[in-house]
Amino acid sequence: MLFAALGLFTTTVSAQDLLVEQANPDKQMSVIDSISLRRMLLNESHLFPSQELYPEWSNDRVHFEVERPDSFRIDLTGFVMPTTNTKITDIYGYRPRRRRVHHGLDLKVQIGDTIRSAFDGKVRIVKNQGRRKGYGKYVVVRHENGLETVYGHLSKWLVTENQYVKAGDAIGLGGNTGRSTGSHLHFETLFLGKAIDPALMFDFVNQDVTGDYYDYKKAVRRTVDSKTGKVKIESAEPKYYKVRSGDTLSKIAKKHGVSLSTLFKLNGMNSRSKLRIGQSIRYN
Ligand SMILES: [Zn+2]
Repeated sequence: MLFAALGLFTTTVSAQDLLVEQANPDKQMSVIDSISLRRMLLNESHLFPSQELYPEWSNDRVHFEVERPDSFRIDLTGFVMPTTNTKITDIYGYRPRRRRVHHGLDLKVQIGDTIRSAFDGKVRIVKNQGRRKGYGKYVVVRHENGLETVYGHLSKWLVTENQYVKAGDAIGLGGNTGRSTGSHLHFETLFLGKAIDPALMFDFVNQDVTGDYYDYKKAVRRTVDSKTGKVKIESAEPKYYKVRSGDTLSKIAKKHGVSLSTLFKLNGMNSRSKLRIGQSIRYN
């Protein structure tokens, strides 16, 4: 209703009216107030960063499945390092020893070190996964460039959900909460619910971006090779198989001509993992 009234107001006020109003200071004030109020309402109509890209704003789930564009250019300018520490203690990717996928990159921090938002954005999640579990105390921020960043194992939060932050704003303090041995920051970058290797976009050792843009391409999966540091282009668009009654991972592997270890790797599973009917198993 307020919107409608303001709309009417702005269309009926002319320069002539404003001139007349010069003589009436009270009325002039109300014009200024209305303009700033209207500006405020327009800002609020932009509910969250990357609203055109993301179907919703919710304070749950870090990872999720949504339709992703075939390609998307992510603007990396304006990036601020989440920590001034440059020591990488664990890289992104599959860890054979632990038989699971590491969705982020770990940076050494001391308990109490300031952790900063990588870009301007809006805080989506501030939660604690609990003792010995996952991220521990963590923060997720959604940014205007389409990325979301995750900061895990914090000792303290300095923001609340739905709060707007600027690049470089302190969002928490480094810690050792959750599934973590030794204080460190788990830094994760997500595009539309899916993790991307942060090393493709950021050079933590030199405290810089790898370029002004990162071109996300749906059909290509890229990771940084841990040994050579070179970018590996891995596979085409992932393919999934829906588990039916009587299926085993070996059967699914055979059916699609892939090895069992490939299935383990693609799905972050191991020989003890149980299948559910209807579960999607990635085989490519
Ligand atoms: Zn980690």
